Amino acid sequence: MADKKDYYSILGVEKKASKEEIKKAYRKLAHKYHPDKNGGSDDKFKEVSEAYAVLSDDKKRSEYDAYGRTFGSNGGNGFGDFDFSGFAQNFQDFDLGDIFGGGFGDIFGGGGARGKRGRDVSIDIEISFEESVFGTERKVLVTKQNVCSNCDGEGGEPDTKYKKCTTCNGAKMIHDTKHTFFGTFTHQTVCPGCRGKGEVPENICKKCLGMGVVKEQTEITIKVPIGMENGEMIRMRGAGEAVSGGVAGDLYARIHVKPHPIFKKQGANFLMDLDIKVTDAILGAEYSIKTIDNKTLRVKIPQGTSNGDVLRVRGKGLQLKSSGSGDLLIKAKVKMPSKLSRKAKKLLEELQDEGI
Ligand SMILES: [Zn+2]
Ligand SMILES: [Zn+2]
Repeated sequence: MADKKDYYSILGVEKKASKEEIKKAYRKLAHKYHPDKNGGSDDKFKEVSEAYAVLSDDKKRSEYDAYGRTFGSNGGNGFGDFDFSGFAQNFQDFDLGDIFGGGFGDIFGGGGARGKRGRDVSIDIEISFEESVFGTERKVLVTKQNVCSNCDGEGGEPDTKYKKCTTCNGAKMIHDTKHTFFGTFTHQTVCPGCRGKGEVPENICKKCLGMGVVKEQTEITIKVPIGMENGEMIRMRGAGEAVSGGVAGDLYARIHVKPHPIFKKQGANFLMDLDIKVTDAILGAEYSIKTIDNKTLRVKIPQGTSNGDVLRVRGKGLQLKSSGSGDLLIKAKVKMPSKLSRKAKKLLEELQDEGI
């Protein structure tokens, strides 16, 4: 059996915390872990939301408290005086698998149809630096469970008639009795004959064999917006795995940006190094560089440029529609000559005499 989650410690509150304290703790954490935020975490967010869903509801909280006592980690008497049928009814709003991390799955053979959600799918996408700058689109092939296109998830051939399910006699649910290690339990569960629909097709769908979902290779187009940073995620709601009688999971694409030999990005600015001859640094000069969009740009090196000085070319950074453009920051790398000709040495000595 899976370890019981401690909803109190997930929210960082005391067992006797007031509703107000629980709400406050939840808001803070939900804000911190929100998946759309930088540094957010979908798993943490779900965990926190789950804890709040239970602890913010008086009835569920007391059930949870009772549950914690009854199943205490010190072994104890197991179910003891635990009223299982009452417990199951009080939790009808929830998929039990969701609350208890699937711990009851073995006993009940899965939760009800309510709250069912397909698996999330995550993929990795590598893009070039230029693609991260200009935005791009990627078509990827993902093997995942989809709603069957032949029957729209209904499980029957498109022209079939439907008849009442004989397993549940149209009631959609059945009472399921399980003999387990802990005793015998009767549980109301989704009818496996019709998967909770109450009726079954006369001719089952040939493509999905009545399952309503099929595992298939799926082409997904992912739009990578301008300015994606290395390691950032794109979330596509509902593009994960479909599940019969539930909502589809999400697809997460983690973006890996390949480094560029010349440019680096810092927020909306581009950074680059530029080698400059020592005499150009002293006297000033004009250099030609290639910008990220492969255009030639003339940049003025001011007289008296020191090694490490940064020249700013406005508007030649990341082009953001919403917040304007970043700048190109050119760091001067003043190169010392490694060898000097006799003549150069003589001229430099003259400069030295000038106090330069
Ligand atoms: Zn089908
Ligand atoms: Zn049925």
